[in-house]
Amino acid sequence: MKNDGLLVVISGPAGTGKGTVVKELMQDEKIRVSVSATTRSPREGEENGFHYHFLTREAFLQMIEKDGFLEYAQYCGNFYGSPKEQAESWMQEGMDVILEIEVQGCRKIKEKNPECVSIFVMPPSMEVLEQRLRGRGTETEEVILRRLERAKEEIRLSADYDYIVVNDTVEQCAADIRCVLKAEKLRAKRFVK
Ligand code: 5GP
Repeated sequence: MKNDGLLVVISGPAGTGKGTVVKELMQDEKIRVSVSATTRSPREGEENGFHYHFLTREAFLQMIEKDGFLEYAQYCGNFYGSPKEQAESWMQEGMDVILEIEVQGCRKIKEKNPECVSIFVMPPSMEVLEQRLRGRGTETEEVILRRLERAKEEIRLSADYDYIVVNDTVEQCAADIRCVLKAEKLRAKRFVK
């Protein structure tokens, strides 16, 4: 029997609440969440090494050169990438590793790791999504509009995911994801060496 943890990709438009859902899932001691690297500036309250590894463009490009990412992508003018080393060692220890990444990153992960589980967190409606994005109060109008446009594109691509869960409430959404992970672990193919 294979004991490696699952590689789990969670995507969803900015403002959909997936970060809160992921925090809820982190309560499980068998789940780890990968800390991404990014070239975007920290938002108020964000800590280096905890929310993201905030890198300069040069440092990010160097990490690409060294093949240090499972995947990386550009999103709204910045680079984002999932560091390889930490995720691989957690999976070898039997932890399920969540990558909270956007859709291009998910595609790249699927190509290289077809056994990964991809989950799209859907907002209940575009109106709710807009309210949530504006409610953050951390972004300029220009950034909000850019993110809303991007959200529409991402929702169109959600059919490519293995699962779609609607984030009506954090508890229900996290419970749905736990069901998905449980079922995935029981798949016959995961019992074969
Ligand atoms: P934000 O700037 O709001 O923190 O993140 C913007 C988008 O980048 C979100 O959709 C988030 O899931 C995605 N993202 C965060 N880290 C990564 C990563 O390592 N790789 C990719 N491809 N996307 C990421």
